[in-house]
Amino acid sequence: MTHTQAASAAPAPSPGTSRDGAASAGAVADDTGRLARPVAPATSRRGAGLGEVRVDGGFWTSLLEVNAGATLRHCRDWMERLGWIANFDRVAAGTTADGERPGWQFSDSEVYKLLEALAWEHGRTGDVGADAAFEELAARVVAAQDDDGYLNTCYGHAGQPGRYTDLSSGHELYCTGHLLQAAVARIRTTTGPSATADPLVTAAIRAADHVCREFGPGAREQICGHPEIEVGLAELGRALGEPRYTAQATLFVERRGHGTLAPIALLGPQYFQDDVPVRDADAWRGHAVRALYLAAAAVDVAVDTGDDELLAAVERQWTRSVERRTHLTGGMGSRHQDEGFGDDWELPADRAYCETCAGIASVMVSWRLLLATDDVRYADLVERTLYNVVATSPRSDGRAFFYANPLQQRTPGGDLLPDEVNPRAEGGVRAPWFDVSCCPTNVARTLASWPAYTATIDGDVVTLAQYAPGDLRIALDDGGALGLRVTTRYPHHGYVRAEITEAPDRPVTLRLRVPSWADGATVTAPRAAGAGHGDPHTVHPGWTEVRRTFTPGDVVALDLPTAPRLTWPDPRVDALRGTVAVERGPLVLCVESHDLPPGADLADLRLDPSVPPVPHDDGARVRARLVPPPATPAGRPPFTSAPPAPPSDTTDGGTTDNGTADVVLIPYHRWAERGPAAMRVFLPIR
Ligand SMILES: [Zn+2]
Repeated sequence: MTHTQAASAAPAPSPGTSRDGAASAGAVADDTGRLARPVAPATSRRGAGLGEVRVDGGFWTSLLEVNAGATLRHCRDWMERLGWIANFDRVAAGTTADGERPGWQFSDSEVYKLLEALAWEHGRTGDVGADAAFEELAARVVAAQDDDGYLNTCYGHAGQPGRYTDLSSGHELYCTGHLLQAAVARIRTTTGPSATADPLVTAAIRAADHVCREFGPGAREQICGHPEIEVGLAELGRALGEPRYTAQATLFVERRGHGTLAPIALLGPQYFQDDVPVRDADAWRGHAVRALYLAAAAVDVAVDTGDDELLAAVERQWTRSVERRTHLTGGMGSRHQDEGFGDDWELPADRAYCETCAGIASVMVSWRLLLATDDVRYADLVERTLYNVVATSPRSDGRAFFYANPLQQRTPGGDLLPDEVNPRAEGGVRAPWFDVSCCPTNVARTLASWPAYTATIDGDVVTLAQYAPGDLRIALDDGGALGLRVTTRYPHHGYVRAEITEAPDRPVTLRLRVPSWADGATVTAPRAAGAGHGDPHTVHPGWTEVRRTFTPGDVVALDLPTAPRLTWPDPRVDALRGTVAVERGPLVLCVESHDLPPGADLADLRLDPSVPPVPHDDGARVRARLVPPPATPAGRPPFTSAPPAPPSDTTDGGTTDNGTADVVLIPYHRWAERGPAAMRVFLPIR
């Protein structure tokens, strides 16, 4: 991943969605550009459309370009190679009884997530290649739809189990939910009235109608073991103005929590959140991705139906789970057996699960809560998770991914199959593809739609929630547009400069987010018209706003302190007691074995917290000691009746004369890019 650079002053290529990809630099974002966003509740506050934001250079542009240039094709090639796309051809041809179907029950969903990614990518850049790939893939999917709207390649055809015969594990409605989300992306990135005539959108509507018939009032009073249909129905209902879909999503949310799903061996109803109704739960539990997709849907339903109690329930769960069940990176999930949340304070670094998909699902929940409540803490968690989970998963070439994201790797990972399907990796190496390969396509669709998560708009209030260099042209609800050119080297430098490039002749409000870690931030704003700019003044974490009748050339500048800092775990997190982490801006840092003196063992490293960390490249340098392990008699368990010795100056190779060594930390999102390594985020202090 390249380091950031300032925004280019070159003319902007079109951020619009024209089918021919023609440049329309500076054009007012049309309706399609404004509407091209994954989440569109009927509230006054909305997220930015992909046509309103163009990122240009810097941290995220690198990721977005690699996603577009490598990951989308990579995902398609692997699914072609494994026969997951051909599964649709087999259904269409009526040959499902001939041979075994490759892939898990849920492999259709990966094809749908790739379709969603291609649609957003086309909407984001106008890339005709992405559009063509979408149409080609969609044609094969659509051909597999049954006459009554059912669409699944694993059930209901010759040689296959019957439809909806295994709701606990079958993932049929889960797959349909992803189909609906792909259709939403297509609708919102397609110009004009042709959107609903699109073959994939037509198929999704038929599939949604089928679900409403099969699972509506008086029909099957059942749910799917993996939530996802709910969020798909809710958003398709918004995109089409179809209240039946919202009602069906509401039914599914309300039905969960009453123990109707058949148990899965070794796992209780908590695994699929069927133990407690959503509105009664106090914290997230069970399988993390399921819990978070369900929570996202619950926010959608609560907002669309005006159900304040349900919204408050999700906020309550968010608060408790973030306070007690969330890793420093924003990662969620502490148990490997069920890919699930642990109990309060159960946050071991080495056994952190932190599935990439759970990080993406957490962003989905927090983004919805931000739109619903305007509470800045949700934007803070989105940032933490984007930089330290979502950005961590893909390798810098976009062709390998982390599935789990532990905060400590004791020995360098070495079980990678570089050109084979890998088991569900528990960390240590990024793999090109997995047996259960939910994460790569989830990363792809998230990065393709990333600019939509950077700003919110409410009336004449424009809020920058995330920072990246580029240009924004936001359509204001009361008419006109606010144009901004953002120049920054964030996250490696904390200076964010927003220059007004266009503004209406009336007061509007520009809000900036001061992250929770940014004590001592300052903002500089223009005085009244023609009076120049004021002096920097200190602002506290939260929203800071400037309301003016802006004129082009006005500058609002935010300066966030990004010196490395120590971060201490809550003492109730037993697994982290006696350790400290180092962060810099929004980035969690880590030590990799590559950066230790030759022969040194990462397990022997002790950080000296009395010496403040200092900047080093895009990471930090700390003062540490290397403590030789105690001389435990051979063959005895690693316990002793003797209390630990006080810190000593005993040192190993590579240290200075007084027993200390300077050790470099790098951003966690870049770990394992230099080959397999031992790694840790939390460092013992004694
Ligand atoms: Zn996943």
